[in-house]
Amino acid sequence: MRVSNLLMPTLRELPAEAEVVSHQLLLRAGFIRKAAAGVYTLLPLAWRVIRKIEQIIREEMDRQGGQELMMPIIQPAELWHESGRWDVYGPELFRLKDRHGRDFCLGPTHEEIITALIRGEINSYKQLPLLLYQIQNKYRDERRPRFGLLRGREFIMKDLYSFDRDEAGLDISYNKMFEAYTNVFRRCGLRFRPVVADSGAIGGSDTHEFAVLAESGEATILYCENDECGYAANEERAEAVASTSTGNMAPLEMKKISTPDCRTIEEVALFLKLPPEKMIKTMIYSTEKETVAAMVRGDREINEVKLYNALGCIRLDLADEETVLRVTGAPAGFAGPVNLKGVKLVADREVMTLANAVCGANENDYHLVNVNPGRDFKPDIIADIRLVKAGEPCPVCGAGLHEAKGIEVGQIFKLGDKYSKALGATFLDENGKARPFIMGCYGIGVTRTMAAAVEQNHDERGIKWPVQIAPYHVIVVPVSTKDKDQVNAAEEIYQNLVTGGVETVIDDRPERAGVKFKDADLVGYPIRITVGAKGLAEGKVELYSRLEEQTMMVPLGDVVNAVKSKLRELAAG
Ligand code: ATP
Ligand code: MG
Repeated sequence: MRVSNLLMPTLRELPAEAEVVSHQLLLRAGFIRKAAAGVYTLLPLAWRVIRKIEQIIREEMDRQGGQELMMPIIQPAELWHESGRWDVYGPELFRLKDRHGRDFCLGPTHEEIITALIRGEINSYKQLPLLLYQIQNKYRDERRPRFGLLRGREFIMKDLYSFDRDEAGLDISYNKMFEAYTNVFRRCGLRFRPVVADSGAIGGSDTHEFAVLAESGEATILYCENDECGYAANEERAEAVASTSTGNMAPLEMKKISTPDCRTIEEVALFLKLPPEKMIKTMIYSTEKETVAAMVRGDREINEVKLYNALGCIRLDLADEETVLRVTGAPAGFAGPVNLKGVKLVADREVMTLANAVCGANENDYHLVNVNPGRDFKPDIIADIRLVKAGEPCPVCGAGLHEAKGIEVGQIFKLGDKYSKALGATFLDENGKARPFIMGCYGIGVTRTMAAAVEQNHDERGIKWPVQIAPYHVIVVPVSTKDKDQVNAAEEIYQNLVTGGVETVIDDRPERAGVKFKDADLVGYPIRITVGAKGLAEGKVELYSRLEEQTMMVPLGDVVNAVKSKLRELAAG
Protein backbone atom coordinates (compact mmCIF):
# COMPACT_ATOMS: atom_id res chain seq x y z
CA MET A 1 0.00 0.00 0.00
CA ARG A 2 1.16 3.49 -0.86
CA VAL A 3 0.56 6.23 1.64
CA SER A 4 -0.30 8.56 -1.27
CA ASN A 5 -3.30 6.26 -1.94
CA LEU A 6 -4.24 5.34 1.60
CA LEU A 7 -7.39 6.84 3.11
CA MET A 8 -5.64 7.88 6.31
CA PRO A 9 -6.73 11.45 7.08
CA THR A 10 -4.38 12.42 9.91
CA LEU A 11 -5.09 15.52 11.97
CA ARG A 12 -2.52 17.92 13.41
CA GLU A 13 -4.90 19.36 15.98
CA LEU A 14 -6.24 17.60 19.02
CA PRO A 15 -9.96 17.01 18.39
CA ALA A 16 -11.86 19.01 21.03
CA GLU A 17 -14.55 16.41 21.73
CA ALA A 18 -12.13 13.59 22.48
CA GLU A 19 -11.52 13.14 26.22
CA VAL A 20 -9.50 9.94 26.28
CA VAL A 21 -6.27 9.01 24.54
CA SER A 22 -7.66 6.24 22.36
CA HIS A 23 -10.39 8.50 21.03
CA GLN A 24 -7.90 11.30 20.36
CA LEU A 25 -5.31 9.08 18.71
CA LEU A 26 -7.73 7.05 16.60
CA LEU A 27 -9.19 10.31 15.25
CA ARG A 28 -5.82 12.01 14.79
CA ALA A 29 -4.16 9.01 13.15
CA GLY A 30 -7.00 8.67 10.66
CA PHE A 31 -8.51 5.40 11.92
CA ILE A 32 -12.08 6.51 12.67
CA ARG A 33 -14.57 9.24 11.88
CA LYS A 34 -17.77 10.03 13.73
CA ALA A 35 -21.12 9.73 11.94
CA ALA A 36 -23.28 10.44 15.01
CA ALA A 37 -22.81 10.28 18.78
CA GLY A 38 -21.38 6.84 19.51
CA VAL A 39 -21.53 5.82 15.84
CA TYR A 40 -18.32 5.63 13.81
CA THR A 41 -16.95 4.75 10.43
CA LEU A 42 -13.95 2.47 10.70
CA LEU A 43 -11.48 3.66 8.06
CA PRO A 44 -9.11 1.24 6.29
CA LEU A 45 -6.41 1.17 8.99
CA ALA A 46 -8.95 0.53 11.75
CA TRP A 47 -10.67 -2.14 9.71
CA ARG A 48 -7.39 -4.01 9.29
CA VAL A 49 -6.91 -4.00 13.07
CA ILE A 50 -10.48 -5.16 13.62
CA ARG A 51 -10.09 -8.00 11.13
CA LYS A 52 -6.95 -9.19 12.90
CA ILE A 53 -8.65 -9.18 16.28
CA GLU A 54 -11.63 -10.99 14.75
CA GLN A 55 -9.35 -13.58 13.18
CA ILE A 56 -7.69 -14.33 16.52
CA ILE A 57 -11.13 -14.60 18.13
CA ARG A 58 -12.39 -16.96 15.38
CA GLU A 59 -9.41 -19.24 15.74
CA GLU A 60 -9.79 -19.47 19.51
CA MET A 61 -13.57 -19.99 19.39
CA ASP A 62 -13.18 -22.68 16.72
CA ARG A 63 -10.39 -24.35 18.69
CA GLN A 64 -12.88 -24.88 21.55
CA GLY A 65 -15.48 -26.32 19.19
CA GLY A 66 -17.38 -23.11 18.53
CA GLN A 67 -19.45 -22.83 15.34
CA GLU A 68 -19.83 -19.46 13.67
CA LEU A 69 -23.24 -18.35 12.42
CA MET A 70 -24.92 -15.04 11.76
CA MET A 71 -28.14 -13.98 13.43
CA PRO A 72 -30.33 -11.03 12.45
CA ILE A 73 -29.67 -7.58 13.85
CA ILE A 74 -33.38 -6.78 13.62
CA GLN A 75 -35.24 -8.74 16.27
CA PRO A 76 -39.02 -9.10 16.73
CA ALA A 77 -40.48 -7.73 19.97
CA GLU A 78 -42.43 -10.97 20.58
CA LEU A 79 -39.28 -12.81 21.65
CA TRP A 80 -38.37 -9.98 24.01
CA HIS A 81 -41.85 -10.15 25.50
CA GLU A 82 -41.35 -13.87 26.05
CA SER A 83 -38.11 -13.32 27.96
CA GLY A 84 -39.64 -10.38 29.81
CA ARG A 85 -36.87 -8.05 28.68
CA TRP A 86 -38.91 -5.79 26.37
CA ASP A 87 -39.97 -3.82 29.44
CA VAL A 88 -36.89 -4.38 31.62
CA TYR A 89 -34.24 -3.34 29.10
CA GLY A 90 -35.40 0.26 29.12
CA PRO A 91 -34.22 3.12 26.92
CA GLU A 92 -30.93 1.40 26.02
CA LEU A 93 -32.90 -0.74 23.56
CA PHE A 94 -33.17 0.79 20.08
CA ARG A 95 -36.81 0.16 19.18
CA LEU A 96 -38.45 0.50 15.80
CA LYS A 97 -41.68 -0.34 14.01
CA ASP A 98 -42.14 -1.84 10.58
CA ARG A 99 -44.68 -0.51 8.04
CA HIS A 100 -47.41 -2.62 9.64
CA GLY A 101 -46.76 -1.12 13.06
CA ARG A 102 -45.11 -4.25 14.44
CA ASP A 103 -42.45 -3.71 17.08
CA PHE A 104 -38.81 -4.63 16.57
CA CYS A 105 -35.51 -3.78 18.16
CA LEU A 106 -31.91 -3.61 17.03
CA GLY A 107 -30.05 -6.39 18.82
CA PRO A 108 -28.06 -5.27 21.87
CA THR A 109 -27.38 -8.98 22.54
CA HIS A 110 -28.87 -12.23 21.22
CA GLU A 111 -30.08 -14.51 24.03
CA GLU A 112 -33.69 -14.32 22.79
CA ILE A 113 -32.94 -15.07 19.15
CA ILE A 114 -30.59 -17.94 19.82
CA THR A 115 -32.78 -19.53 22.49
CA ALA A 116 -35.76 -19.43 20.13
CA LEU A 117 -33.60 -20.94 17.38
CA ILE A 118 -32.39 -23.82 19.55
CA ARG A 119 -35.92 -24.37 20.90
CA GLY A 120 -37.04 -25.13 17.37
CA GLU A 121 -34.03 -27.10 16.15
CA ILE A 122 -32.52 -29.15 19.00
CA ASN A 123 -34.54 -31.73 20.86
CA SER A 124 -32.19 -34.40 22.20
CA TYR A 125 -29.40 -34.53 24.75
CA LYS A 126 -27.44 -36.35 22.04
CA GLN A 127 -27.09 -33.07 20.13
CA LEU A 128 -25.44 -31.31 23.08
CA PRO A 129 -23.23 -29.51 23.97
CA LEU A 130 -23.40 -26.68 21.43
CA LEU A 131 -21.22 -23.59 21.24
CA LEU A 132 -22.53 -21.05 18.74
CA TYR A 133 -21.10 -17.63 18.01
CA GLN A 134 -21.20 -14.65 15.73
CA ILE A 135 -19.22 -11.45 15.22
CA GLN A 136 -21.60 -8.64 14.50
CA ASN A 137 -22.68 -5.06 15.11
CA LYS A 138 -24.58 -4.51 18.32
CA TYR A 139 -26.85 -1.57 19.16
CA ARG A 140 -27.27 0.01 22.57
CA ASP A 141 -28.64 3.50 23.04
CA GLU A 142 -26.18 4.18 25.87
CA ARG A 143 -27.07 7.01 28.23
CA ARG A 144 -23.65 8.54 27.72
CA PRO A 145 -21.97 7.36 24.55
CA ARG A 146 -18.42 8.61 24.93
CA PHE A 147 -14.75 7.86 24.79
CA GLY A 148 -14.97 7.04 21.09
CA LEU A 149 -15.00 3.31 20.50
CA LEU A 150 -14.86 2.48 24.21
CA ARG A 151 -18.56 3.20 24.67
CA GLY A 152 -20.41 3.41 21.40
CA ARG A 153 -24.06 3.04 20.48
CA GLU A 154 -23.11 0.84 17.54
CA PHE A 155 -20.17 -1.46 18.16
CA ILE A 156 -18.82 -4.83 17.11
CA MET A 157 -19.17 -7.76 19.49
CA LYS A 158 -18.35 -11.41 19.37
CA ASP A 159 -21.09 -13.20 21.23
CA LEU A 160 -21.06 -16.91 21.90
CA TYR A 161 -23.83 -18.94 23.55
CA SER A 162 -23.36 -22.37 25.07
CA PHE A 163 -26.09 -25.00 25.43
CA ASP A 164 -25.55 -27.89 27.80
CA ARG A 165 -27.70 -30.57 29.38
CA ASP A 166 -26.73 -29.76 32.96
CA GLU A 167 -24.63 -27.60 35.28
CA ALA A 168 -21.63 -29.92 34.96
CA GLY A 169 -21.74 -29.45 31.20
CA LEU A 170 -22.02 -25.69 31.63
CA ASP A 171 -18.93 -25.74 33.86
CA ILE A 172 -16.99 -27.39 31.03
CA SER A 173 -18.23 -24.89 28.43
CA TYR A 174 -17.48 -22.00 30.77
CA ASN A 175 -13.95 -23.22 31.38
CA LYS A 176 -13.41 -23.62 27.64
CA MET A 177 -14.42 -20.01 27.11
CA PHE A 178 -12.25 -18.88 30.01
CA GLU A 179 -9.31 -20.51 28.28
CA ALA A 180 -10.31 -19.13 24.86
CA TYR A 181 -10.57 -15.58 26.21
CA THR A 182 -7.22 -15.86 27.93
CA ASN A 183 -5.70 -16.96 24.62
CA VAL A 184 -7.44 -14.22 22.63
CA PHE A 185 -6.17 -11.34 24.74
CA ARG A 186 -2.72 -12.84 25.08
CA ARG A 187 -2.49 -13.32 21.32
CA CYS A 188 -3.62 -9.71 20.81
CA GLY A 189 -0.45 -8.73 22.69
CA LEU A 190 -2.33 -7.10 25.56
CA ARG A 191 -1.70 -7.07 29.31
CA PHE A 192 -4.95 -8.13 30.94
CA ARG A 193 -6.52 -9.92 33.88
CA PRO A 194 -9.57 -12.12 34.23
CA VAL A 195 -11.48 -10.81 37.24
CA VAL A 196 -14.37 -12.08 39.30
CA ALA A 197 -17.23 -9.75 38.46
CA ASP A 198 -20.77 -8.95 39.45
CA SER A 199 -23.51 -10.61 37.44
CA GLY A 200 -25.76 -7.53 37.58
CA ALA A 201 -29.09 -7.38 35.81
CA ILE A 202 -28.49 -10.20 33.31
CA GLY A 203 -28.84 -12.72 36.16
CA GLY A 204 -27.01 -15.98 36.57
CA SER A 205 -24.25 -16.90 38.95
CA ASP A 206 -20.61 -17.18 37.96
CA THR A 207 -19.13 -14.46 35.86
CA HIS A 208 -15.68 -13.17 34.97
CA GLU A 209 -14.70 -10.01 33.22
CA PHE A 210 -11.54 -9.73 31.18
CA ALA A 211 -9.93 -6.37 31.77
CA VAL A 212 -7.15 -4.78 29.76
CA LEU A 213 -4.89 -2.97 32.22
CA ALA A 214 -4.74 0.75 31.47
CA GLU A 215 -4.59 3.79 33.72
CA SER A 216 -7.58 5.33 32.02
CA GLY A 217 -9.74 2.27 32.76
CA GLU A 218 -13.14 2.83 34.37
CA ALA A 219 -12.93 -0.38 36.40
CA THR A 220 -10.88 -0.77 39.56
CA ILE A 221 -9.40 -4.22 39.95
CA LEU A 222 -8.02 -5.73 43.12
CA TYR A 223 -5.58 -8.55 42.57
CA CYS A 224 -3.49 -10.73 44.83
CA GLU A 225 0.21 -9.88 45.00
CA ASN A 226 0.87 -13.60 45.09
CA ASP A 227 0.88 -14.68 41.42
CA GLU A 228 0.40 -18.31 42.32
CA CYS A 229 -2.87 -17.46 44.04
CA GLY A 230 -4.06 -15.39 41.07
CA TYR A 231 -7.15 -13.97 42.82
CA ALA A 232 -8.42 -10.88 40.99
CA ALA A 233 -11.79 -9.21 41.32
CA ASN A 234 -13.62 -6.17 40.25
CA GLU A 235 -13.85 -3.60 43.01
CA GLU A 236 -17.62 -4.11 42.93
CA ARG A 237 -17.12 -7.72 43.78
CA ALA A 238 -13.85 -8.02 45.77
CA GLU A 239 -14.61 -9.88 48.97
CA ALA A 240 -13.72 -8.39 52.31
CA VAL A 241 -12.02 -10.66 54.77
CA ALA A 242 -14.20 -10.61 57.87
CA SER A 243 -12.13 -9.09 60.64
CA THR A 244 -12.09 -10.58 64.07
CA SER A 245 -13.31 -8.60 67.04
CA THR A 246 -11.52 -5.26 67.41
CA GLY A 247 -11.89 -5.14 71.14
CA ASN A 248 -12.65 -7.68 73.80
CA MET A 249 -13.85 -4.81 75.89
CA ALA A 250 -16.65 -5.15 78.36
CA PRO A 251 -19.69 -3.36 76.98
CA LEU A 252 -20.21 -0.01 78.70
CA GLU A 253 -23.41 1.88 79.21
CA MET A 254 -24.60 3.69 76.10
CA LYS A 255 -24.65 7.50 76.41
CA LYS A 256 -25.82 10.42 74.31
CA ILE A 257 -23.30 13.22 74.00
CA SER A 258 -23.30 16.62 72.38
CA THR A 259 -21.22 16.86 69.18
CA PRO A 260 -21.98 20.33 67.84
CA ASP A 261 -21.50 20.68 64.07
CA CYS A 262 -19.70 17.32 63.79
CA ARG A 263 -21.25 15.76 60.74
CA THR A 264 -18.49 13.80 59.09
CA ILE A 265 -16.69 10.82 60.56
CA GLU A 266 -13.47 12.88 60.57
CA GLU A 267 -15.08 15.73 62.52
CA VAL A 268 -16.59 13.38 65.09
CA ALA A 269 -13.32 11.41 65.40
CA LEU A 270 -11.35 14.59 65.99
CA PHE A 271 -13.88 15.92 68.48
CA LEU A 272 -14.04 12.70 70.51
CA LYS A 273 -10.34 11.90 70.03
CA LEU A 274 -11.23 8.42 68.81
CA PRO A 275 -10.05 6.67 65.63
CA PRO A 276 -12.61 6.37 62.77
CA GLU A 277 -12.41 2.58 63.23
CA LYS A 278 -14.47 3.04 66.40
CA MET A 279 -17.32 4.73 64.54
CA ILE A 280 -20.31 3.34 62.72
CA LYS A 281 -20.95 5.15 59.45
CA THR A 282 -24.67 5.10 58.64
CA MET A 283 -25.95 6.01 55.18
CA ILE A 284 -29.63 6.27 54.32
CA TYR A 285 -30.78 4.82 50.97
CA SER A 286 -34.12 4.55 49.19
CA THR A 287 -35.17 1.53 47.18
CA GLU A 288 -38.40 0.92 45.28
CA LYS A 289 -39.76 -0.82 48.39
CA GLU A 290 -38.34 0.85 51.49
CA THR A 291 -35.86 3.12 53.19
CA VAL A 292 -32.60 1.48 54.20
CA ALA A 293 -29.89 2.38 56.71
CA ALA A 294 -26.59 0.84 55.63
CA MET A 295 -23.73 0.67 58.10
CA VAL A 296 -20.01 0.22 57.70
CA ARG A 297 -17.07 0.93 59.99
CA GLY A 298 -16.15 4.63 60.03
CA ASP A 299 -12.96 4.19 58.01
CA ARG A 300 -14.70 2.09 55.31
CA GLU A 301 -16.91 2.89 52.36
CA ILE A 302 -20.15 1.32 51.29
CA ASN A 303 -20.05 -0.83 48.16
CA GLU A 304 -23.40 -0.09 46.56
CA VAL A 305 -23.29 -3.14 44.31
CA LYS A 306 -22.92 -5.44 47.30
CA LEU A 307 -25.64 -3.52 49.14
CA TYR A 308 -27.93 -3.80 46.12
CA ASN A 309 -27.32 -7.55 45.95
CA ALA A 310 -27.87 -7.98 49.69
CA LEU A 311 -31.21 -6.17 49.42
CA GLY A 312 -32.32 -7.85 46.20
CA CYS A 313 -33.87 -4.57 45.10
CA ILE A 314 -34.38 -3.05 41.65
CA ARG A 315 -33.52 0.55 42.41
CA LEU A 316 -31.05 1.89 44.97
CA ASP A 317 -30.35 5.60 45.51
CA LEU A 318 -28.89 7.66 48.31
CA ALA A 319 -31.86 9.18 50.13
CA ASP A 320 -32.49 12.90 49.65
CA GLU A 321 -32.23 15.35 52.56
CA GLU A 322 -35.95 15.38 53.09
CA THR A 323 -36.13 11.60 53.48
CA VAL A 324 -33.15 11.57 55.86
CA LEU A 325 -34.83 14.20 58.03
CA ARG A 326 -38.17 12.39 57.96
CA VAL A 327 -36.88 8.90 58.86
CA THR A 328 -34.10 9.83 61.31
CA GLY A 329 -35.49 13.07 62.69
CA ALA A 330 -32.13 14.76 62.12
CA PRO A 331 -30.22 16.34 59.24
CA ALA A 332 -27.66 14.23 57.38
CA GLY A 333 -24.58 13.47 59.47
CA PHE A 334 -26.40 12.38 62.62
CA ALA A 335 -28.04 9.15 61.50
CA GLY A 336 -27.48 5.98 63.49
CA PRO A 337 -29.08 2.54 63.82
CA VAL A 338 -30.20 2.77 67.46
CA ASN A 339 -33.97 3.17 67.81
CA LEU A 340 -34.33 3.84 64.10
CA LYS A 341 -37.90 2.82 63.27
CA GLY A 342 -39.47 1.97 59.94
CA VAL A 343 -36.11 1.58 58.26
CA LYS A 344 -34.42 -1.64 57.14
CA LEU A 345 -31.04 -1.98 58.91
CA VAL A 346 -28.20 -3.50 56.90
CA ALA A 347 -24.88 -3.88 58.70
CA ASP A 348 -21.55 -4.80 57.28
CA ARG A 349 -20.16 -7.91 59.00
CA GLU A 350 -17.33 -5.84 60.43
CA VAL A 351 -19.74 -3.50 62.21
CA MET A 352 -20.91 -6.44 64.29
CA THR A 353 -17.39 -6.91 65.69
CA LEU A 354 -17.27 -3.38 67.14
CA ALA A 355 -17.51 -2.79 70.87
CA ASN A 356 -18.36 0.50 72.56
CA ALA A 357 -18.62 2.23 69.20
CA VAL A 358 -19.88 5.68 68.21
CA CYS A 359 -22.81 6.46 65.94
CA GLY A 360 -25.24 9.26 65.17
CA ALA A 361 -28.06 9.73 67.70
CA ASN A 362 -30.72 10.63 65.11
CA GLU A 363 -30.81 14.06 66.69
CA ASN A 364 -29.17 17.25 65.47
CA ASP A 365 -25.72 17.76 67.04
CA TYR A 366 -25.75 14.52 69.04
CA HIS A 367 -23.97 11.18 68.83
CA LEU A 368 -24.19 8.02 70.89
CA VAL A 369 -21.10 6.47 72.49
CA ASN A 370 -20.59 2.95 73.88
CA VAL A 371 -22.90 1.53 71.24
CA ASN A 372 -22.75 -2.26 71.09
CA PRO A 373 -24.19 -3.87 67.98
CA GLY A 374 -26.48 -6.74 68.84
CA ARG A 375 -27.24 -5.22 72.23
CA ASP A 376 -28.27 -1.72 71.17
CA PHE A 377 -29.60 -2.49 67.70
CA LYS A 378 -30.34 -5.63 65.71
CA PRO A 379 -29.73 -5.42 61.96
CA ASP A 380 -32.23 -7.00 59.57
CA ILE A 381 -29.37 -8.06 57.31
CA ILE A 382 -25.70 -8.68 58.10
CA ALA A 383 -23.57 -8.99 54.98
CA ASP A 384 -20.34 -7.96 53.29
CA ILE A 385 -21.36 -4.53 51.97
CA ARG A 386 -18.10 -2.59 52.01
CA LEU A 387 -15.49 -1.65 49.47
CA VAL A 388 -12.18 -3.43 49.69
CA LYS A 389 -9.02 -1.36 49.24
CA ALA A 390 -5.46 -2.11 48.18
CA GLY A 391 -3.38 -3.35 51.09
CA GLU A 392 -6.15 -5.48 52.58
CA PRO A 393 -5.70 -9.26 52.69
CA CYS A 394 -6.62 -11.49 49.77
CA PRO A 395 -9.81 -13.46 50.58
CA VAL A 396 -8.26 -16.63 49.13
CA CYS A 397 -4.68 -16.73 50.43
CA GLY A 398 -4.36 -13.81 52.84
CA ALA A 399 -1.47 -12.11 50.99
CA GLY A 400 -1.81 -8.39 50.17
CA LEU A 401 -4.14 -7.03 47.52
CA HIS A 402 -2.91 -4.58 44.90
CA GLU A 403 -5.00 -2.23 42.83
CA ALA A 404 -5.01 -1.54 39.09
CA LYS A 405 -7.26 0.20 36.59
CA GLY A 406 -8.75 -1.79 33.77
CA ILE A 407 -11.04 -1.62 30.75
CA GLU A 408 -13.61 -4.41 30.47
CA VAL A 409 -13.15 -5.96 27.04
CA GLY A 410 -14.97 -9.23 27.57
CA GLN A 411 -17.29 -10.96 29.95
CA ILE A 412 -18.38 -14.56 30.41
CA PHE A 413 -21.58 -15.53 32.25
CA LYS A 414 -23.28 -18.65 33.48
CA LEU A 415 -26.93 -18.05 32.63
CA GLY A 416 -28.34 -21.40 33.73
CA ASP A 417 -31.95 -21.91 32.66
CA LYS A 418 -33.02 -18.26 32.85
CA TYR A 419 -33.71 -17.87 29.12
CA SER A 420 -34.51 -21.49 28.25
CA LYS A 421 -37.20 -21.56 30.95
CA ALA A 422 -38.67 -18.20 29.97
CA LEU A 423 -38.83 -19.22 26.31
CA GLY A 424 -39.74 -22.86 26.93
CA ALA A 425 -36.63 -24.24 25.24
CA THR A 426 -36.23 -27.87 26.28
CA PHE A 427 -34.61 -31.11 25.13
CA LEU A 428 -35.33 -34.72 25.98
CA ASP A 429 -32.86 -36.52 28.28
CA GLU A 430 -32.06 -40.28 28.26
CA ASN A 431 -35.31 -41.01 30.06
CA GLY A 432 -37.37 -39.03 27.61
CA LYS A 433 -37.91 -36.26 30.15
CA ALA A 434 -38.08 -32.66 28.89
CA ARG A 435 -35.46 -30.42 30.50
CA PRO A 436 -34.49 -26.79 29.91
CA PHE A 437 -31.14 -26.14 28.24
CA ILE A 438 -28.45 -24.91 30.62
CA MET A 439 -26.91 -21.89 28.96
CA GLY A 440 -23.93 -19.59 29.13
CA CYS A 441 -23.16 -16.38 27.22
CA TYR A 442 -19.79 -14.95 26.40
CA GLY A 443 -19.05 -11.53 24.84
CA ILE A 444 -15.98 -9.73 23.56
CA GLY A 445 -16.15 -6.08 22.54
CA VAL A 446 -14.10 -6.10 19.35
CA THR A 447 -14.09 -2.36 18.74
CA ARG A 448 -13.56 -1.74 22.44
CA THR A 449 -10.60 -4.11 22.40
CA MET A 450 -9.01 -2.03 19.63
CA ALA A 451 -9.50 1.16 21.65
CA ALA A 452 -8.24 -0.52 24.84
CA ALA A 453 -5.12 -1.61 22.96
CA VAL A 454 -4.45 2.07 22.21
CA GLU A 455 -5.15 3.11 25.80
CA GLN A 456 -2.55 0.61 26.93
CA ASN A 457 0.00 1.12 24.17
CA HIS A 458 0.82 4.70 23.24
CA ASP A 459 3.16 7.56 24.01
CA GLU A 460 3.04 11.31 23.46
CA ARG A 461 3.81 10.82 19.76
CA GLY A 462 1.11 8.32 18.96
CA ILE A 463 0.01 4.70 18.98
CA LYS A 464 2.36 1.78 19.61
CA TRP A 465 0.42 -1.17 18.18
CA PRO A 466 1.28 -4.61 19.48
CA VAL A 467 2.69 -6.40 16.41
CA GLN A 468 -0.12 -8.98 16.47
CA ILE A 469 -2.85 -6.45 15.71
CA ALA A 470 -0.95 -3.62 14.01
CA PRO A 471 -2.68 -2.43 10.81
CA TYR A 472 0.62 -2.84 8.93
CA HIS A 473 3.94 -4.04 10.26
CA VAL A 474 6.36 -1.81 8.41
CA ILE A 475 6.47 1.61 6.82
CA VAL A 476 9.26 2.37 4.39
CA VAL A 477 10.21 6.06 4.31
CA PRO A 478 12.53 7.59 1.74
CA VAL A 479 13.91 10.73 3.41
CA SER A 480 13.78 12.71 0.18
CA THR A 481 11.48 11.85 -2.70
CA LYS A 482 13.59 14.13 -4.89
CA ASP A 483 16.59 11.82 -4.60
CA LYS A 484 16.28 9.11 -7.30
CA ASP A 485 18.63 6.69 -5.47
CA GLN A 486 16.63 6.89 -2.29
CA VAL A 487 13.34 6.43 -4.10
CA ASN A 488 14.64 3.44 -6.06
CA ALA A 489 16.12 1.79 -2.99
CA ALA A 490 12.94 2.40 -0.99
CA GLU A 491 10.76 0.98 -3.78
CA GLU A 492 12.94 -2.11 -4.00
CA ILE A 493 12.83 -2.70 -0.25
CA TYR A 494 9.07 -2.19 -0.29
CA GLN A 495 8.65 -4.76 -3.08
CA ASN A 496 10.91 -7.26 -1.33
CA LEU A 497 9.03 -6.94 1.94
CA VAL A 498 5.64 -7.33 0.28
CA THR A 499 6.88 -10.33 -1.70
CA GLY A 500 8.29 -11.73 1.53
CA GLY A 501 4.82 -11.62 3.08
CA VAL A 502 5.42 -8.61 5.35
CA GLU A 503 2.51 -6.16 5.59
CA THR A 504 4.18 -2.99 4.38
CA VAL A 505 3.35 0.54 3.29
CA ILE A 506 5.65 2.99 1.56
CA ASP A 507 5.41 6.68 2.28
CA ASP A 508 5.79 7.97 -1.26
CA ARG A 509 4.35 11.41 -0.56
CA PRO A 510 6.47 14.41 -1.56
CA GLU A 511 6.50 15.58 2.06
CA ARG A 512 9.35 16.65 4.31
CA ALA A 513 10.95 13.78 6.23
CA GLY A 514 9.79 15.27 9.55
CA VAL A 515 6.15 15.14 8.47
CA LYS A 516 6.48 11.52 7.37
CA PHE A 517 8.20 10.49 10.60
CA LYS A 518 5.52 12.23 12.66
CA ASP A 519 2.73 10.43 10.81
CA ALA A 520 4.53 7.08 11.09
CA ASP A 521 4.84 7.52 14.87
CA LEU A 522 1.24 8.68 15.15
CA VAL A 523 -0.17 5.70 13.22
CA GLY A 524 2.09 3.42 15.20
CA TYR A 525 3.69 1.02 12.67
CA PRO A 526 5.89 -1.27 14.77
CA ILE A 527 8.83 -0.87 12.36
CA ARG A 528 10.00 2.03 10.20
CA ILE A 529 12.66 1.58 7.54
CA THR A 530 14.28 4.91 6.74
CA VAL A 531 16.14 5.22 3.46
CA GLY A 532 18.51 8.22 3.56
CA ALA A 533 21.51 9.48 1.61
CA LYS A 534 24.05 8.90 4.39
CA GLY A 535 23.07 5.29 4.99
CA LEU A 536 22.81 4.49 1.30
CA ALA A 537 26.38 5.72 0.79
CA GLU A 538 27.38 2.77 3.02
CA GLY A 539 24.78 0.43 1.50
CA LYS A 540 22.61 0.57 4.62
CA VAL A 541 19.18 1.70 5.80
CA GLU A 542 17.88 2.46 9.28
CA LEU A 543 15.50 0.07 11.06
CA TYR A 544 13.57 1.84 13.82
CA SER A 545 11.56 -0.21 16.31
CA ARG A 546 8.69 1.96 17.53
CA LEU A 547 7.92 -0.29 20.48
CA GLU A 548 11.47 -0.38 21.81
CA GLU A 549 12.37 3.09 20.50
CA GLN A 550 15.63 1.69 19.15
CA THR A 551 17.36 2.10 15.81
CA MET A 552 19.90 -0.04 14.03
CA MET A 553 21.60 0.10 10.64
CA VAL A 554 20.92 -2.82 8.33
CA PRO A 555 22.69 -3.69 5.05
CA LEU A 556 20.35 -3.36 2.04
CA GLY A 557 20.47 -7.07 1.31
CA ASP A 558 19.47 -8.05 4.86
CA VAL A 559 16.38 -5.87 5.28
CA VAL A 560 13.73 -8.55 4.80
CA ASN A 561 15.40 -10.99 7.21
CA ALA A 562 16.13 -8.29 9.78
CA VAL A 563 12.52 -7.11 9.66
CA LYS A 564 11.13 -10.61 9.99
CA SER A 565 13.32 -11.51 12.92
CA LYS A 566 12.53 -8.22 14.64
CA LEU A 567 8.80 -8.84 14.16
CA ARG A 568 9.12 -12.33 15.61
CA GLU A 569 11.05 -10.93 18.57
CA LEU A 570 8.43 -8.23 19.19
CA ALA A 571 5.50 -10.66 18.90
CA ALA A 572 7.13 -12.98 21.40
CA GLY A 573 7.14 -10.07 23.86
P1 ATP B 1 -20.48 -2.09 30.19
O1 ATP B 1 -20.62 -2.45 31.64
O2 ATP B 1 -19.14 -1.49 29.86
O3 ATP B 1 -21.64 -1.30 29.66
P2 ATP B 1 -21.65 -4.57 29.55
O4 ATP B 1 -21.45 -5.32 30.80
O5 ATP B 1 -22.94 -3.95 29.28
O6 ATP B 1 -20.49 -3.46 29.42
P3 ATP B 1 -21.76 -6.95 27.93
O7 ATP B 1 -23.22 -6.93 27.79
O8 ATP B 1 -21.13 -7.96 28.82
O9 ATP B 1 -21.23 -5.50 28.34
O10 ATP B 1 -21.11 -6.99 26.49
C1 ATP B 1 -19.94 -7.74 26.18
C2 ATP B 1 -18.80 -6.82 25.75
O11 ATP B 1 -19.23 -5.88 24.77
C3 ATP B 1 -18.26 -5.97 26.88
O12 ATP B 1 -17.31 -6.69 27.63
C4 ATP B 1 -17.61 -4.83 26.12
O13 ATP B 1 -16.32 -5.20 25.69
C5 ATP B 1 -18.49 -4.69 24.89
N1 ATP B 1 -19.40 -3.54 25.03
C6 ATP B 1 -20.50 -3.43 25.79
N2 ATP B 1 -21.08 -2.24 25.64
C7 ATP B 1 -20.32 -1.55 24.75
C8 ATP B 1 -20.40 -0.26 24.17
N3 ATP B 1 -21.38 0.57 24.47
N4 ATP B 1 -19.45 0.11 23.28
C9 ATP B 1 -18.44 -0.73 22.97
N5 ATP B 1 -18.31 -1.96 23.48
C10 ATP B 1 -19.24 -2.38 24.36
MG1 MG C 1 -23.37 -1.94 29.27
